[in-house]
Amino acid sequence: MVLSALRCIVGAMEMLRLSPSRLNDFTNCPQLYKYRAIDQLPEPPSIDAERGKLVHAVLEDLFEFPAAMRTIHTASELLPKKWLEQLSGQPELATLVLDEKEWMDRANSLLTNYFTLEQPASFESSFRELHLERTISDEMYLHGYVDRLDIAPTGEVRIVDYKTGKSPKPGWEAKAFFQLRVYALLYWQNEGVLPRLLKIIYMGNNKVLESSPTEAELKSTEKILTNIGQEILSAIESSDFPTKKSRLCDWCFFKSICPAHQK
Ligand code: SF4
Repeated sequence: MVLSALRCIVGAMEMLRLSPSRLNDFTNCPQLYKYRAIDQLPEPPSIDAERGKLVHAVLEDLFEFPAAMRTIHTASELLPKKWLEQLSGQPELATLVLDEKEWMDRANSLLTNYFTLEQPASFESSFRELHLERTISDEMYLHGYVDRLDIAPTGEVRIVDYKTGKSPKPGWEAKAFFQLRVYALLYWQNEGVLPRLLKIIYMGNNKVLESSPTEAELKSTEKILTNIGQEILSAIESSDFPTKKSRLCDWCFFKSICPAHQK
């Protein structure tokens, strides 16, 4: 019954829809992937994720201003406006954000950190929230949204991701770049231009990670994501999504219904 239902889902989607987040979900825990992508179970908003969305929205709008106006003052002024927009789209956030002053202060402090890491008045950004997509095989479609993509007058491309959390511990940087390598691969395949730089800005602890992708790295990323996609297709076909216990379980909303945590 479940197997035929999953087959129907695949048939209805016609293709497996992949994104860096979904690929990460499956790698972290196939059961988590099932809850999110197959069962599409709702999850309550998280305060950190919502604060991240707010800061992203401010930074997205900031680049609509002339260079000289891209200041912390403008960003701080945008903050209440973007918060009201977020709240009108998700009124339930009012019950999540109990101390609005603390919430705004924290968002403002993340924006202040951003201005210590980049000077947005000194360059032009070409795209914000750029949707990249590509059909990568008869069975798989890959897509994602890039926070910011800058094309220099020389034609060099920089892909930028904003994080409101902290940078990974030493040794975990490669995993952190997976998402941006997927975007770089999509851009390279679609536009024929190999991005020059991948940049992750961590406002949580004022750190920037940069990497210059090579063709070999992006080809390897393509192989990795195709393999994960094949594993997902096999899991759907066999209706087998194993649980994978890890420290992530402590943050997993589905822990109370997860078979790995039943007594
Ligand atoms: S609680 Fe852990 S094992 Fe269960 S679905 Fe979540 S991440 Fe996977």
